[in-house]
Amino acid sequence: MRAVRLAASGELAMTEIDQPTPGDGELLVKVDACGLCGTDRHIVDGEYPSAAPVTLGHEFGGEVVRADGASSIAVGARVTVDPNITCGVCEQCRAGRVSFCPDLTALGVQRDGGLAEYVAVPEQQAYELPPEVPATHAAFCEPLACCLRGLDLAGIEPGGSVAVLGGGVIGQLMVQLARLAGATTVVLSTRQRARRELAERLGATATIDPTANDPIAAIEGPAGLAPGGVDVVLECAGVAETFRQSLAMTRRGGTVVVFGVAPQAALVEVSPFEIFARELRIQGSYLNPLTHGRAAAMVASGVLELDALVSKELSLAEVPATLSVPPGQGDVKYLVRPAS
Ligand code: NAP
Repeated sequence: MRAVRLAASGELAMTEIDQPTPGDGELLVKVDACGLCGTDRHIVDGEYPSAAPVTLGHEFGGEVVRADGASSIAVGARVTVDPNITCGVCEQCRAGRVSFCPDLTALGVQRDGGLAEYVAVPEQQAYELPPEVPATHAAFCEPLACCLRGLDLAGIEPGGSVAVLGGGVIGQLMVQLARLAGATTVVLSTRQRARRELAERLGATATIDPTANDPIAAIEGPAGLAPGGVDVVLECAGVAETFRQSLAMTRRGGTVVVFGVAPQAALVEVSPFEIFARELRIQGSYLNPLTHGRAAAMVASGVLELDALVSKELSLAEVPATLSVPPGQGDVKYLVRPAS
């Protein structure tokens, strides 16, 4: 079968390999769609640890084509896969903090993933989707599950105000989730015009071009969109600049969710007095602990606009070249269809 394999740092190619043989308790999944994400680029560049040689792809779903006799998921079922596999027995797992499991491994990072025609998946990682859900939507469950973790920690209240910084696929999902959570002011700041326009179609009540206007003044200033600051900032850009902005545009007693992944070496000066006097809550959000099932339920319900986020569908052969250059202007999500 065809698979996109990382042989070593910087060495990514589509190659022919044997179809995997699922072990006990594993399903063989024929991949319908697999999303590409920024982490894939970091893995290829050696900036994010992986276990090459490995097949990449951690945002995927497909059809079960083989299951062992004891499986509760039948052949023919459509599934989305939580790529993050945890041990289930360590102190962190047993306390429900599964994303902190020291033995966490991920399909598409340390184990062969979904950028292939077929992938072997431990059954407990698979979540069934109704057959009528478009095949491409299964690939959104993983990023959505991460967003749900951020949303759980954000504490958005109906009628509340939210700023989303960064208009990639995560920011676009967050805009929709914030509206579904009842926020009545949802402001997205991102540089690319096409992404601002998309967010407005998806429910943002206002957008800001941070290259033309100071997002802090535009939000928390006396004539701003949320004078005094927003209840919640969802930082989804992963740069020091937006982290700094987040602290300044949150109201007293508000919450900043640090969702974006900043470079490990990035440092920002913060004033402890400000955090104290303004009772700011600065909350990290890491991976998708126990949220994949809810993400699958949301995708199955059709409540989210996902088709508008797909900028391009690619074949497996197109992946290495696509990951070797930055995403095109205005593009949000690339989906790979291994059967194409
Ligand atoms: P993405 O496509 O790179 O989106 C981030 C966007 O932020 C950029 O494309 C850029 O869009 C925008 N941005 C950059 N500098 C900005 C600035 N100064 N002001 C406003 N916007 C700015 O990535 P993504 O897939 O949406 O993911 C977003 C972040 O979440 C990434 O850091 C990713 O690594 C992280 N992430 C975290 C988790 C988790 O578990 N916490 C899970 C998945 C992803 P413009 O060019 O339009 O400005």
